[in-house]
Amino acid sequence: TGEVKFCDISFRYGDNMPFVLNGLNLHIKAGETIALVGPSGGGKSTLVKLLLRLYDPLSGCILIDNHNIQDIRLDNLRRHISFVSQDITLFSGSVAENIGYRDLMSKIDMERVEHAARTANADEFIRKLPEGYKTNIGPRGSILSGGQKQRLALARALYQNSSILILDEATSALDSRSELLVRQAVERMMENHTVLVIAHRLETVLMAKRVFLLRDGKLEELTRSTLLGGHH
Ligand code: ADP
Ligand code: ADP
Repeated sequence: TGEVKFCDISFRYGDNMPFVLNGLNLHIKAGETIALVGPSGGGKSTLVKLLLRLYDPLSGCILIDNHNIQDIRLDNLRRHISFVSQDITLFSGSVAENIGYRDLMSKIDMERVEHAARTANADEFIRKLPEGYKTNIGPRGSILSGGQKQRLALARALYQNSSILILDEATSALDSRSELLVRQAVERMMENHTVLVIAHRLETVLMAKRVFLLRDGKLEELTRSTLLGGHH
């Protein structure tokens, strides 16, 4: 599972606004990793927001495993698809609670949390923080670094059995060790997840099987030679 199809999607933020997406098509096979690149303001985040149903398209449809996402209950959709970025929202609670938050109201399976944390390279800070330690300091602050938040989000995705990962690569540089740990975790998870990565760095782009440029509301597949030549 984890096949995603965008069929002829058009979208704009308001009646008199320009189209952000205009007749866009994309078919991601289950288990495939694709990278999305393009100019700032080109619509990459918008595409992700439509997939998560923060907005609905003006026309066209989005299918996950051949189900129209309009027919999927929002909580199921959000469990199926995990959004991973350095800006994920944590709630006040331990790292373990943030990883297992799907079961917060029932009972978090600590063994699964530990296993997910190991796979996502999040185990070093899950142990450092005592149970009940608050991950948030105020509405914006956090004691976790951007890279740690990405790894926490990956662990959360594993815990809740998401089949689709959406990665928003940091535009600001993480330190190189943290970046390596994120990349390594993602590479592990690529083996059994569908991955859509909004990529900014060439090495991230090259992790993907296929690369698409989002420009003028449409996608254009880029070949490896175009990418390495650096002219598009
Ligand atoms: P990217 O992620 O590629 O940088 P975005 O999807 O964030 O691009 O933005 C695409 C276009 O939509 C931009 O022109 C942006 O200003 C506009 N946009 C994004 N979000 C909104 C919004 N909530 N309301 C109005 N316009 C928006
Ligand atoms: P992101 O693209 O990661 O959502 P942004 O910094 O682009 O983050 O946008 C922050 C917020 O402002 C988002 O909720 C986005 O939808 C909104 N936004 C972005 N561009 C515009 C715009 N041109 N007009 C109105 N809202 C916008």
